[in-house]
Amino acid sequence: MRPFKKVITHLLVASLIYSPSILASPFKTLPEYGSQSLPEIGTAAATTLSIKKEMEYGDAYMRLLRASHPLVHDPLLSEYIHVLGTKLLSKAQDVKTPFTFFLVQDKTINAFAFFGGHIGIHTGLFFHAQTQGELASVLSHEIAHLTQRHLARSMEAQAKQSPLAMAALIGSIMLSIAAPQAGIAAIQATVAANMQSKINYTRSNEQEADRIGINILSRAGFDTYGMHRFFERMATEFRFTTTPPPFLLTHPLPTSRITEARTRAQQYPKKTDLYSLNYALARSRVIARYSYLGPSKSLNWFNVELKTALPNEVAALNYGKALIYLDNQQFDKAEKILKPLLKNDPQNLYYLDAYTDLDLNQKKFNTAILRLKKALEMKPNNRVLSLNLNYALIKEGKFKEAINNLHRFTHQNPSDINGWSMLQEAYDKNKNRHGALMAQGEIFALQAHWKKAISNYVQASHLVPLGSLDQARYDARIDQLTLEEIRFRELQN
Ligand SMILES: [Zn+2]
Repeated sequence: MRPFKKVITHLLVASLIYSPSILASPFKTLPEYGSQSLPEIGTAAATTLSIKKEMEYGDAYMRLLRASHPLVHDPLLSEYIHVLGTKLLSKAQDVKTPFTFFLVQDKTINAFAFFGGHIGIHTGLFFHAQTQGELASVLSHEIAHLTQRHLARSMEAQAKQSPLAMAALIGSIMLSIAAPQAGIAAIQATVAANMQSKINYTRSNEQEADRIGINILSRAGFDTYGMHRFFERMATEFRFTTTPPPFLLTHPLPTSRITEARTRAQQYPKKTDLYSLNYALARSRVIARYSYLGPSKSLNWFNVELKTALPNEVAALNYGKALIYLDNQQFDKAEKILKPLLKNDPQNLYYLDAYTDLDLNQKKFNTAILRLKKALEMKPNNRVLSLNLNYALIKEGKFKEAINNLHRFTHQNPSDINGWSMLQEAYDKNKNRHGALMAQGEIFALQAHWKKAISNYVQASHLVPLGSLDQARYDARIDQLTLEEIRFRELQN
């Protein structure tokens, strides 16, 4: 299925603005803020960021990003990075918050981390990381920035120098996301003064993130040379370029750092960087749908790769071609590729998803529904299959069934925009206006459009019988959203 898409009115904020490394801690002597050593809130609140506060900032930041950045709400890719990220996280130490991994449609190479366990990955990274191990090495590095609280410590250190600095810094980060121009100016004024003195310390943070990242990588069963290989390729690729990708701006790659990555890798048990079909399929999906190459160039890319592909690499490259054919309405060509792929690997989520598109385009709604229900028996609650099934149910006109399913889905995945947008569509087609307003209201809230979200709920409340259960629910949500908006504004001030 094609994911929820929203029109972006303004372009990306340079991601280096809120990349933690640029703000990373210059103070190595800061105490460790383990859960026991956290000062009481109220006594040192002005200079210490509690985990709770970090989570609030993280949540607010994510809402602003959803409203201002082209995030990729693709069920398969979201699932892919969630699974990979969770695997790495399970081997990390000092994890104090839940983590959210998300994708930004941007062809530059970058990854960044923010409070509350938020890690963003540019789609461009998929293009340049040739193996899952290489992508995992970047993710581990970002995870380490967060578990070591580099950003938080930097802000705490600044706050010790000046009571206003922490609020000003975080506030300007928030601002820079919401209104890029104002934000850049604000953050420059705040940090420019001691930028020069930060650079060395930033390197020490980077070193620590490299060191801890490689440990996570090894414990999760990956080849520890992945980081070295990726660094080396980046350095070669961008050696003579005048505009290096954001990742290199925040992560300079002097020879010493590349050598260090190799030396560290040698200290771990040797593992092979195994071919991952899931990574190859995710990568093909990014190249076919989110690379800005356009259909003919990306088709050409797949054809060139196929010429030198090993036998086990052919399936994922063909899958990429099939997606391009699907998107160009060349259904016969797509089917020719997808049929044998699905036959050989009937539980594969990527193939099931593409085949759903194929069936729906050919109006074979029931075939798609039956296939997806069967697949769900093996993987109950799988998000990719659930969304595909409900998409097919809506096409078939089974709105009530879809609405029931989607209520459960959005309850379990409250920040999944695809779920809410599908629920909105199902309510709309079922001529239930207040239900559609409610679901759309939740999308607005996820994007920090509080006024619109509240207005939707007010309208919904007027549309249902006075004193009904629906009305009580809508009114309660209005109160909640009003409070959330107040808390959100407080964070920005
Ligand atoms: Zn870094």
